[in-house]
Amino acid sequence: MKNKETRLNIALQKSGRLSEKSFELLSKCGLELAQGKRSLICRSQELPVDVLLLRDDDVPTFVSEGVCDIGIVGQNVLLEETLGTKEGENLETVMELGFSGCRLSIALPKEKEYNSLEDIKGCKLATTYPKILQNFLDKNKINAMAVKMEGSVEIAPSLGLADGICDIVSSGATLEAHGLVEVEKIFQSQAVLVGRKNMSVEKRAILVTILERIKGVRAAAKSKYVMLNAPKSKLKDICALLPGSESPTIIPLADENKVAVHAVCLEPVFWSTMESLKSAGATSVLILPIEKMLV
Ligand code: ATP
Ligand code: MG
Repeated sequence: MKNKETRLNIALQKSGRLSEKSFELLSKCGLELAQGKRSLICRSQELPVDVLLLRDDDVPTFVSEGVCDIGIVGQNVLLEETLGTKEGENLETVMELGFSGCRLSIALPKEKEYNSLEDIKGCKLATTYPKILQNFLDKNKINAMAVKMEGSVEIAPSLGLADGICDIVSSGATLEAHGLVEVEKIFQSQAVLVGRKNMSVEKRAILVTILERIKGVRAAAKSKYVMLNAPKSKLKDICALLPGSESPTIIPLADENKVAVHAVCLEPVFWSTMESLKSAGATSVLILPIEKMLV
């Protein structure tokens, strides 16, 4: 009998604030999903990978139960789902992904005076993250109560359901619209790749390929390909201005006094950098995006 092919199962959020960036990342890694985003299981043609589309809260459970091998989830959800459970023992953060950054904060109605954590003693705080909140309160020896709500947490104080809230904040606009003020940041979050600790050698090999590609995608996103012409006499000064470039390629030009410089810059190239290059004598400065990079 033919051996069943080993495939790596990846759990992604079906739709929401993580899904678009997650799909984009996989697509840049060469994992175009054949069935599109509608079906719950998508197969990749290029690598032995299947993708399951879930609610983000289910990602940690699917990975720890072994239905999926890795998944993309916010650290906030990962911590809430695993705090004080056996589930967390099977899981490890394989890579921080740097997108969907947000923070979990305590916010109070703007009329309420706030000087220190002491001021929330005895308060009821509405939250979708009762375990993270309780953990924070216990660590700070504050006796307050977490009231679990699944959504629309920000309306709880005006309805008299709670004295304040503990919720995800990114710009703060939602809080402001509900007359709330952020008073304590309790957890900083971003999207992470979470994996099961005990993975077979075959699966880990597929994971390593994906991780290398993700590193390449992230390095390429930050990097630029710079091309410019430089008078030979100014070459040293001009090369010193190129941000994060190792050893530029120097190409002779028809004009013997000049050379072309090509360099991969691993750091952002700002307008001010281009202006400095021009002041140093560079001409025809071109900055090009890099699509892929194997580092
Ligand atoms: P699901 O239907 O899958 O359960 P959800 O409604 O629980 O989705 P989303 O609002 O899509 O969750 O947010 C998913 C994750 O994105 C959050 O857990 C958090 O890590 C991150 N996130 C939430 N709000 C923001 C934001 N304003 N900016 C950036 N990232 C955010
Ligand atoms: Mg959710």
